[in-house]
Amino acid sequence: MKVRVVGSGSMWTAYNSASYLIDDSIIIDFPNGMCKYLFRQGIDPRAINNVIITHFHGDHYFDIPFYYLLKSRSDNKAINLYCGKEGKRKINKLFALAFPNSVKRVKESIDLKYHFNKKFKIDNYEISRVLMDHGRMKPAYGYILADDKIKVGFTGDTTLCDNVKYLASMCDYLFCDCMFIEGTSKHMGIDMLKKLSSKYKNCTFVVSHLEDDTRYKLNKLDYNNVIVPEDGVTITIM
Ligand SMILES: [Zn+2]
Ligand SMILES: [Zn+2]
Repeated sequence: MKVRVVGSGSMWTAYNSASYLIDDSIIIDFPNGMCKYLFRQGIDPRAINNVIITHFHGDHYFDIPFYYLLKSRSDNKAINLYCGKEGKRKINKLFALAFPNSVKRVKESIDLKYHFNKKFKIDNYEISRVLMDHGRMKPAYGYILADDKIKVGFTGDTTLCDNVKYLASMCDYLFCDCMFIEGTSKHMGIDMLKKLSSKYKNCTFVVSHLEDDTRYKLNKLDYNNVIVPEDGVTITIM
């Protein structure tokens, strides 16, 4: 599996917001600016047909209208959108707000399918959705992508809850929220990461959604199973 960290920052930084591209085929989260992030990294969003959304905060889905519009103007019109069942209504509302005069044309033009199942398959990966704890934002999901060799987890936004421990216990790599120096009831922090990474030594933690002071501090620490990625790096997991 090839995971490109398209964005590793929180929304209040010059870094792109947390988002990933897997095997040039699957996007996890679609923050405001995502189409531009991808173009700047030499990736054409039109070529991508699968999008997984962790939860419906703006920094995780607000660029979806731009993606639908772009797909409607391309030859590749297939879109599979995997999310909680509230997603369709939220995205429709956002699209109508963003491009009110194009809603009908775009909807007729693209080949859009929503998928609300807890378990699904994309390419060679069996994917399962797991409930996270992101304070009042409910539901917030994490995902596990597994093939016959590896298991890779993505927490999305979350505090340290039992399901984060579950992901850490079973995954080879876990792309996880580590927004703050000290975690809160909504986001994990370095204090929580420290506990996790020392308990689950077989898991490599790739931190994301970072505030600048958190990144600065993380870069000075030397945990051997923690990676602090820059935007645009690709991590190959075998
Ligand atoms: Zn959030
Ligand atoms: Zn967020």
